[in-house]
Amino acid sequence: MSASAYNPFENAQAQFDRVAEVLNLSPGMRSLLRQPMKEFHYTIPVKMDDGTSQVFKAYRVKHNTARGPAKGGIRFDPRETADDVRALATWMTWKCAVVDIPLGGGKGGIACDPFKLSLGEQERLCRGYIRQGFNQFGPVIDVPAPDMMVPAQYMLWMMDEYETLAGGHYPGVITGKPVGYGGSLGRTEATGFGVVWTLRELLKAENIDIKATTASIQGFGNVAEYTARKYTELGGKVIAVSCKNSPSEEAFTVRKAGGCDVGELLGIKKGWGIDADKAKALGYEILGEHAWLSQDVDILFPAALGNQITPKNLPDVSKQVKVIAEAANGPTTPDCDPLIKERGILMLPDVLCNAGGVTTSYFEQVQNNMNYYWSLEEVLDKLEYAMVKAFKAVYGLAKEQNLYMRDAAYRIAVQRVADAVEKRGWI
Ligand code: NAD
Repeated sequence: MSASAYNPFENAQAQFDRVAEVLNLSPGMRSLLRQPMKEFHYTIPVKMDDGTSQVFKAYRVKHNTARGPAKGGIRFDPRETADDVRALATWMTWKCAVVDIPLGGGKGGIACDPFKLSLGEQERLCRGYIRQGFNQFGPVIDVPAPDMMVPAQYMLWMMDEYETLAGGHYPGVITGKPVGYGGSLGRTEATGFGVVWTLRELLKAENIDIKATTASIQGFGNVAEYTARKYTELGGKVIAVSCKNSPSEEAFTVRKAGGCDVGELLGIKKGWGIDADKAKALGYEILGEHAWLSQDVDILFPAALGNQITPKNLPDVSKQVKVIAEAANGPTTPDCDPLIKERGILMLPDVLCNAGGVTTSYFEQVQNNMNYYWSLEEVLDKLEYAMVKAFKAVYGLAKEQNLYMRDAAYRIAVQRVADAVEKRGWI
């Protein structure tokens, strides 16, 4: 099957069903946890700069709130579908439970290409998302955050719209805000740093020296950037990075066999990715979209899209690859998991590996509630502690029961959510 043939929500349900069976969940519990509790589909009319109006399709899904308010990002993406958002909301429930923060799972999306909108149109769309869905949100109900193609400025516009309608200050209604406007230091770095901290712990446990490893990355956005920064800071070498400059352009891979200079690549960013002409002038090879996947490296960091590693392209993955660190959400299809396990590649599953973002969003809310803000060092120390603790629990269970790490993470997460549902008396 090609990547686009996979339905992400069916993937999420297949992953859940496997664990529900092992945990012997009751039919009622299975039925509750394999679908969202609430979902909203709405339209956002936006006045465009040329005087016309355009209507955008928007979604907000709350998968489960037994452990706390729904929490999850909003994606701006022309390919956004209801099933995408359902899958992402489901994974948020498990992710919050894996890192043991008192939040449930939610996610949102707007089908749009922000690269084709003026700044004013982007602002009106952000405000429209909150205005049209106002009753769905609130610091103790559902707290959105950034995801793909969403900068901190969007979060500030959304918070401002919410506060205007609610008539008060509610900074905890949204996270990922700019620092100085209710945002937390460290939120920008959080997801990528968390990815590398879990990788560092895994390599340590497996007696692999991170300094002797090489990696290839799909994506060069927020998560990929801070993954690349932290990984190279710890001594790893990035050989290849793939990206695209906007959703409507072709993706490509930049590669330097001796190792990419991440700072240099960040200095030639263009739109959503890297300026390929400038990279070429600096001595990088420019290869095709999928070349990132077939490099002779030790670590693969899929840090862009879902459904990127499938049974069809797994044979292209080099025999040298030891770890797949899922920085993106849902980058591996469920039918590929048994094959990855068979090949002996270690899997750092998304619900653990990229949970640094939501963990720091939780820290942001805590600071908003106190109206007192921590230093960068405090935030990152707390984040590192939380990520290492979650990693140890997952890795420990995987070792103890000889499990694939995704299965271990899911067992911990689903059991925690099922316990909350049961103790509340819902089932
Ligand atoms: P982003 O919008 O900042 O960056 C996305 C990157 O993907 C861009 O560099 C773009 O060029 C690249 N890309 C898009 N299509 C591509 C293709 N076909 N081939 C190669 N590269 C391609 O998004 P982000 O916030 O970095 O999110 C990336 C992934 O991480 C998503 O799956 C998201 O759900 C997940 N995630 C994000 C966060 C967060 O805090 N931002 C937290 C957890 C998980």
